Amino acid sequence: MMKVGVIGGGQLGRMLALAGTPLGMEFSFLDPADDACAAPVGKHLHAAYDAQAELQQLAQSMDVVTFEFENVPAEAVAYLAQHVPVFPNAESLRVARDRLNEKSMFRELDIPVTAFANVESQQQLDEAVATMGLPAILKTRTLGYDGKGQKVLRSTDDVAGAHAELGGVPCLLEGFVNFTGEVSVIAVRGRDGEIACYPLAHNTHKDGILELSVASDNHPQQALAEDYARRVLEKLDYVGALGFEFFEVDGGLMANEIAPRVHNSGHWTIEGAECSQFENHLRAIAGLPLGSTALVGRSAMVNCIGRMPANAQVMPLADVHVHNYGKAEKPGRKVGHITLRSQTEERLRQAIESTRRLLSGLE
Ligand code: AMP
Repeated sequence: MMKVGVIGGGQLGRMLALAGTPLGMEFSFLDPADDACAAPVGKHLHAAYDAQAELQQLAQSMDVVTFEFENVPAEAVAYLAQHVPVFPNAESLRVARDRLNEKSMFRELDIPVTAFANVESQQQLDEAVATMGLPAILKTRTLGYDGKGQKVLRSTDDVAGAHAELGGVPCLLEGFVNFTGEVSVIAVRGRDGEIACYPLAHNTHKDGILELSVASDNHPQQALAEDYARRVLEKLDYVGALGFEFFEVDGGLMANEIAPRVHNSGHWTIEGAECSQFENHLRAIAGLPLGSTALVGRSAMVNCIGRMPANAQVMPLADVHVHNYGKAEKPGRKVGHITLRSQTEERLRQAIESTRRLLSGLE
């Protein structure tokens, strides 16, 4: 049995274990939450991310350690890495968890990115706005997720006091991108450097939270996204699955952000690809050959945000696969998702429509 330690015990950890258990892997999750939803599918180390005893336990008894979120204390990662293989590596986490590091890397790798400026005071913000113009978006450099820790600045009134509104923490000002759409690629790199990429997903957000991902077939920017992903993976000597989000702009792609882990816009791969992002992440970190990322039918995923429909409500719909994370329902919280996998594009379109109708009826 290969023992896999996971920092974080949310739904990503849970789906990693659901993919890895049939491969003969055993999972332990370090998570301070009482109700970590990965707990039922592994061992729950119920402690803070920097708890000495639990980190020591992972270091001594795991074959490999990975992450399901990026905001792990750097010291904890450094400590673990001295004793056990840790993937992705500390450098990947350092870059991905800070928007300034991330965007600086894109620029260095010649990957198109919107204008950006570091902002650590209101004065710096005023100066950056004077250079960049409006509209712009101010984002906290770290700890932002699901649209939290951001403010769109449209007028000078929005700019006044905006740095304090985001808590006075280090921020990044970004030029507003008039995108035509948002896409992401899940890219995986093995310990031997082998790379595999999934078909691009087209993503729709609602109130800053991913609502719908539709897997594309032959997207015109597939090769470009894969090229950008390859540059990042190789630069970071990355091992595992990585989510890379882009804005679609006139004739090309502009980088938005990377997530050093399996990603919400890749959940459709459980049913919609030969080998899921979760299995491929585990294969990568275990030093195994990667599985095929080829499509199986046509797929999409709809997030269940705040409310989970009853199985009896969802299952009469065509082509649905229910994923209930077993989390308490709370507004704005991702409590599950539904994958739609159909034979044809037309059937998929209908399945998306009926699922969205059902979910919006719960709100
Ligand atoms: P993020 O947390 O950076 O992924 O931002 C969440 C969402 O806000 C993105 O998926 C976009 O819909 C929107 N957004 C973020 N940055 C920008 C930008 N620079 N210009 C326009 N929209 C943005």
